[in-house]
Amino acid sequence: MSRIFYVNGDFVAEEDAKISVLDRGFLFADAVYEVSTVLAGKLIDNKAHLRRLARSLSELAMVAPCSDESILEAQHKLIELNTVQEGLLYLQVSRGVADREFYYPTNTPSSLVMFTQSKSLLDNPAAQTGIKIISIPDQRWARRDIKTVGLLAPCMGKQAAVEAGVNDAWMVEDGFVTEGTSNNAYIVTSEKQIKTRQLGHEILSGITRDAVLRFANEAGYSVLEEAFTIEEALQAEEAFITSASTFVMPVVNIDGTDIGSGSPGPVAKQLRKIYIETAMSRQDL
Ligand code: PMP
Repeated sequence: MSRIFYVNGDFVAEEDAKISVLDRGFLFADAVYEVSTVLAGKLIDNKAHLRRLARSLSELAMVAPCSDESILEAQHKLIELNTVQEGLLYLQVSRGVADREFYYPTNTPSSLVMFTQSKSLLDNPAAQTGIKIISIPDQRWARRDIKTVGLLAPCMGKQAAVEAGVNDAWMVEDGFVTEGTSNNAYIVTSEKQIKTRQLGHEILSGITRDAVLRFANEAGYSVLEEAFTIEEALQAEEAFITSASTFVMPVVNIDGTDIGSGSPGPVAKQLRKIYIETAMSRQDL
């Protein structure tokens, strides 16, 4: 059975899930998105994702396609129709369909599309071994706090990682790590302090970042929200990333140099465990 997609109020088969060539998401990347995790058939931290969606829309003066309640109802129906137990729900809002002009069209309804991807997330073999990354220059635009679909620079980064035979890339700007291509970046210093870049226009405010920093504080770790360099990361005891789809994932090698022992460290392991246990024990949020 083929997957069911959501397109502007309709639940349709993939071959019928179509948008116009004049959609501004297609022409200008004038669209924002969210990816929520599904575990045991339930959405994880979805309310926070919808809050961030509202903020992205507002920063771009884009009208919401419908109420949060309607989005949530459609999300639940899509998960049910596709019998997703574990995986991801992708949601994208574009400024809609209008003849090609740079300025924003008026009175054009925004468009909403969604689809699910069933995927094993908990049983990720990379969590046992940790991932290897390279560092690359951050070539993205200046408003990375807005979650737009303009993702060509991260695509180039992931491709560079694949070609280098590693899993991902950390982006560096003015000598400091901003974030991973699709995740937030952390190190654990020799003083056992967790360091991750402060929020601002330079990085996305990760929903998983927010949860993990809360858990880290509760577990008694000292957390410093401050930019760090690749050199600092190479000297660190541990490194890791967070995102909705990877939770907490240890980074064991950067640019060919092992971090710490070269295997997943205790802090990343503990935070991953807490994150997953908390997510599994909560109701659909
Ligand atoms: N930074 C970037 C650039 C991302 O694309 C993502 C994934 N959406 C994240 C951080 C992590 O965000 P979240 O924890 O909300 O998935």
